[in-house]
Amino acid sequence: MTHSHIIGAGMAGLAAAHALATQGHAVTLYEATPGAGGRARALPDGTDNGTHALIGCNTAALGFLDAIGARQYWVQPEPDGLPVYDCTDSSARLVALSPAGWWNGARRPAGVSWGGVLALMAMALPFRDRTIAEAMAAHPAFLRGFVDPLVIAALNTPSSEASTHRLGQVLRRLGAPGAARLFVARRGLGPDLVDPALAVFAAAGGAYRPGSRLRAIQSSNGRATSLTFQESDVMLGEADRVILALPPWEAQRMLTGIPAPDAFAPIVNLHFAFQPGGQVRFLGLLGALCQWVLIRPEGVAVTISAGDAEAEQDVAELAPRAWAEILRAVRAFHVPGDWPEAPPACRVIKERRATPRQRPGPIPTPPRRPLANLVLAGDWTWPHLPATIEAAICSGQAAAKEALA
Ligand SMILES: Cc1cc2nc3c(=O)[nH]c(=O)nc-3n(C[C@H](O)[C@H](O)[C@H](O)COP(=O)(O)OP(=O)(O)OC[C@H]3O[C@@H](n4cnc5c(N)ncnc54)[C@H](O)[C@@H]3O)c2cc1C
Repeated sequence: MTHSHIIGAGMAGLAAAHALATQGHAVTLYEATPGAGGRARALPDGTDNGTHALIGCNTAALGFLDAIGARQYWVQPEPDGLPVYDCTDSSARLVALSPAGWWNGARRPAGVSWGGVLALMAMALPFRDRTIAEAMAAHPAFLRGFVDPLVIAALNTPSSEASTHRLGQVLRRLGAPGAARLFVARRGLGPDLVDPALAVFAAAGGAYRPGSRLRAIQSSNGRATSLTFQESDVMLGEADRVILALPPWEAQRMLTGIPAPDAFAPIVNLHFAFQPGGQVRFLGLLGALCQWVLIRPEGVAVTISAGDAEAEQDVAELAPRAWAEILRAVRAFHVPGDWPEAPPACRVIKERRATPRQRPGPIPTPPRRPLANLVLAGDWTWPHLPATIEAAICSGQAAAKEALA
């Protein structure tokens, strides 16, 4: 009987494991760390490593949530438009995330113009790949008011560096009705994503081995023959399959010479121990340190994507600045809660290699099957989308199909 060995329990590995186990195949899922989820995980105390948002066009991710029975845990915090507060001029507005919503003048972003919208839409067409700042140079107000935050959120790369082709991959999907709806986990990535995925996998008979770090892969005649873990070796039978769902630097360590991205951008998250109660809210900030603020009844989390400078700063520098901005924004939008003037206890989580930097130029794409019985998965292996949960899940599901082929 075929046995599939899946290495890495991030979203790609979990999606592959789910697809194979629920089709009745024997699967073992190995994970180096004590917990699953990878770059979208809960820390041991339940705190998310960082806020993760999905949008309506992430159909593979939303379908995966349906399949693991977790869809109802993902809420749409701002159905009427994203509240955006500009710290530079203290203006506050609701912004539709899709240009289709801008017919309503009250939902337009700052600085929008027809020329700017056309320049943005042109990125969905196969013109020359260049930086987004270059493509939007004639529309600085729209770049600042809408495109910069979109680029940072979607590509985790500043517009001055980010590729028009990579943004085009996102823009082409945003046209469908409901594609720009924003979803976040109501409680956290543990209870609302990772735990349900592992529970369905276990119920389908899958074996999960946390704390199992793959050290090396032995191969002969173009086939993987055994897997060396810290504690033991796994010999591979003729019919066994391996899915390697590792981050690029780890995959490259196992399979020397495969093409993989080598430049990464950090994401810094601040978690304030303040419980405002009320509903889940999601605010955008312009001209500020904070880019996004996720307000859950149990805590307040700030996201700083592409935070190269902030990744070098400590909590004493970041927290007071961020809290002062949060207070201005929650007051502007009348977010309920007894918000204290002084910053509450704050924890900073820095993911230094959160995603590859999405620059113009060819995407280093590895072969899907570098060995006859070994298939690659992971957000960076899916050239059709920037590195996101959607890309990770698509890659994992495709790897499961490929492994059986
Ligand atoms: C702070 C932050 C915020 C983000 N926000 C968003 C967002 O809002 N929306 C979105 O769609 N995406 C977001 N992303 C990106 C998203 O998290 C990733 O694209 C996705 O989780 C990648 O999944 P993956 O399975 O491909 O890789 P990973 O999550 O990196 O999974 C790889 C797994 O392999 C394990 N591993 C590594 N080495 C070994 C080894 N030798 N042996 C065994 N196991 C090993 C790792 O521990 C990990 O669990 C964010 C990322 C970060 C860091």
